[in-house]
Amino acid sequence: MTQKRLSHLHTQDATLDVGKDVYVYGPDVGWEKASVVAHRPDGILVQTEQGREKLVSPMEMDMASNTAYQGLKDLMELDVLVEGAIGESVLVRYEADQIYTAVGPILISINPYKTVDCYKQEDMEIYAEHGNTGIGSVEPHIFWTAESAYSSMKTDRKNQCILISGESGAGKTEATKLILKYLTWRCDSSGNSASAKPKDGTEEIGDVARQILDSNPVLEAFGNAKTVRNNNSSRFGKLFELQLDNQNLIVGACITTYLLEKSRVVHTNEGERNYHIFYQMCAGGTAEQKTEWRVSEAKQYHYLNQGGNISIPGVDDKKEFNVVQSALKTIGMDQEEQRKMFRILAAILHIGNLKFCEKSKTEEGIKVENPDVLKTVGELLEVDITELEKGLLMRTMFVAGEKVSIPFKPQEACESRDALSKFIYDSLFQRLVLRINKGMDKVDLCNLKIGVLDLFGFESFKVNQFEQLCINYANEKLHQHFLHHFFTLEVAEYKQEGVSVDQIQFTDNTECIKLIESRPLGVLSLLEEECQFPKGTDSTWLQKMSATLTKHPCYEMPRINDKAFIVKHFAGDVVYKIDGFLEKNKDVMQADLLTVLATTDSTLLGEAVFSMQSKNTGGKRASAMQTKKRVAGQFKDEMQLLLMLLEHSSPHFVRCLKPNEKMKPNLFAGEEVIRQLRYSGLLDIIRIRKAGYSIRMPLKVFVSTYLIFAQSMRFHKTFQSKKPNDQCQYLIEKSGVKLEAGAIVVGKSKVFIKENMHAGALD
Ligand code: ADP
Ligand code: MG
Repeated sequence: MTQKRLSHLHTQDATLDVGKDVYVYGPDVGWEKASVVAHRPDGILVQTEQGREKLVSPMEMDMASNTAYQGLKDLMELDVLVEGAIGESVLVRYEADQIYTAVGPILISINPYKTVDCYKQEDMEIYAEHGNTGIGSVEPHIFWTAESAYSSMKTDRKNQCILISGESGAGKTEATKLILKYLTWRCDSSGNSASAKPKDGTEEIGDVARQILDSNPVLEAFGNAKTVRNNNSSRFGKLFELQLDNQNLIVGACITTYLLEKSRVVHTNEGERNYHIFYQMCAGGTAEQKTEWRVSEAKQYHYLNQGGNISIPGVDDKKEFNVVQSALKTIGMDQEEQRKMFRILAAILHIGNLKFCEKSKTEEGIKVENPDVLKTVGELLEVDITELEKGLLMRTMFVAGEKVSIPFKPQEACESRDALSKFIYDSLFQRLVLRINKGMDKVDLCNLKIGVLDLFGFESFKVNQFEQLCINYANEKLHQHFLHHFFTLEVAEYKQEGVSVDQIQFTDNTECIKLIESRPLGVLSLLEEECQFPKGTDSTWLQKMSATLTKHPCYEMPRINDKAFIVKHFAGDVVYKIDGFLEKNKDVMQADLLTVLATTDSTLLGEAVFSMQSKNTGGKRASAMQTKKRVAGQFKDEMQLLLMLLEHSSPHFVRCLKPNEKMKPNLFAGEEVIRQLRYSGLLDIIRIRKAGYSIRMPLKVFVSTYLIFAQSMRFHKTFQSKKPNDQCQYLIEKSGVKLEAGAIVVGKSKVFIKENMHAGALD
């Protein structure tokens, strides 16, 4: 992965004189504090704090900070803004269980992997009272960010959105839950003002708030799973919008989900699990329920036992099932509706156990090896078993206007079987989200919204596929939004004010986004196009990309593997293996099986299938899947919508970091953290803040603040007759302070001051 450094040193820099404190960089350890021992022809000899001697190149050194050891609340206040100092500050805080740090308005959160006692009622009260006065009076905290969003909404009367990012396991979902906990308490319509509530922590909350909070266990049961990175990994992205009325009280909420990982329903890697709900049903279903579902232990089901992991240490699936059932009730699903849903889920488990084999040596075609399982599936899905069987064993095609049935090979039947399971599960999930929203979406009563976005972070694995491309594309879009918010707005302001912006440089990721989404010559458009060609394959798609995109600065062909391409993402280069892209993008299910599902007597399944189809076809009823909008195209539209929404709200950013890969408390892998900081874009923000002018004052304010330097001038005629910007210029000159070139610049309506100037020279 290519890595961006904030700065580096040269041998002749005075900061590298013998005896000086420095940070040195080493693989695995990241930045370490050390002091310079000697200059050698082949590098600089240093002694680290741990007492080891090391020979390092100036490229891997930075000046040490004298303030980082204090574990500052706001990294913008560091004396030297280098990676080492940032890493040190964050570490000092982490070791003191201060998992939050501010970088200006942005919040960094480090996953403690243990209970940190800072989310109590009293804590919420502190932020409700002092949270909007800036980080000066309070500790950085997730409640601080939540309060900022809330108070900005109140004062600016504008929609707000909290964007949470970070890699899998960094704490995004926990952060989302804490924000919801805070905001539902802060603006709960049942008790009016937050401060008027009882302080025992168990106080009543309103029905809306309860519904909002209870939607979480439901979503997690259906959309989260154990992965190697996170025991409770969200396998979908979500935007949670809180709806507030004109008194700033919560009236409702609405959830939008993105890109559920469907493949997990039928396949899990070593050490991982399928979605929690299945294991919960197996562990927690009553005898009566299990008889109805005809379900036994989880290990009996192919879909559940592939990863070799049936249980998660510290998690009681049985107990969780009770929690989920009661949460389902809160969101408005009665016993009967739940019953219908669990039947369909049980059916999926049985579908996964269906086996196919050749009929016999002499007879053409295949058959179901375990017809009793087929019968169970048919009964649970409430469809005709003969039709279901036909749909599973052969495909209907039209040849010269004639309907013909072509039998599958056993392998094809398995694929079609799995496609059926994925389709059913996805439909159920979508329906569940609709169902949750039906109970709590009060958009008509709502005046303003606070959104909380918990989206999958940037991914770069050994093997990257279609899913990673979608996820990374989403991250590019969000990163662009982030950069635009901080940089473009900043630069635009300088320009508008007539201030030179030469010294401010930043890398925008527009090129990479163009590579992915341009029409007609972009990665996704070419993929869509190839999906339309009957003869299109992953390879022909790659050939077309190679022919048209090789000159693109963000596109590269790998030297060895010809069945892959490289995208140069903002966070690093990612190699995508092309296998399966077309298949996954088309995401077709046998039209025959769909027809079978459409005849179900289960109202719930019928509804789910119908709403899924209307989503895919933009509301038009379709009998076959041909008119379906393909996955990437649909995802692109969803991202476009999301970005539009974000552009109309004020953003607040939370960057979640993972201290180590082992999911352990009290373990800080410095290099891992720096890597995440680099691709979080945070270092860019720090750089621009420092490079640019972090303090701006309207001309009049500047004049009145600094007139003290020129008391006698106040009534001076020539001073009075000057234009405000000339007055400012005059004041700066008369102050007699020696200024670096460009330290203070007078713009058209504001004076721009570099941060260190404000604190020092003029005050
Ligand atoms: P992500 O959504 O970024 O993949 P999660 O929010 O699911 O990550 O966090 C993964 C796990 O880390 C959680 O299940 C929890 O055990 C732990 N964790 C995350 N944030 C906190 C926190 N603030 N306090 C304690 N534990 C946390
Ligand atoms: Mg998550």
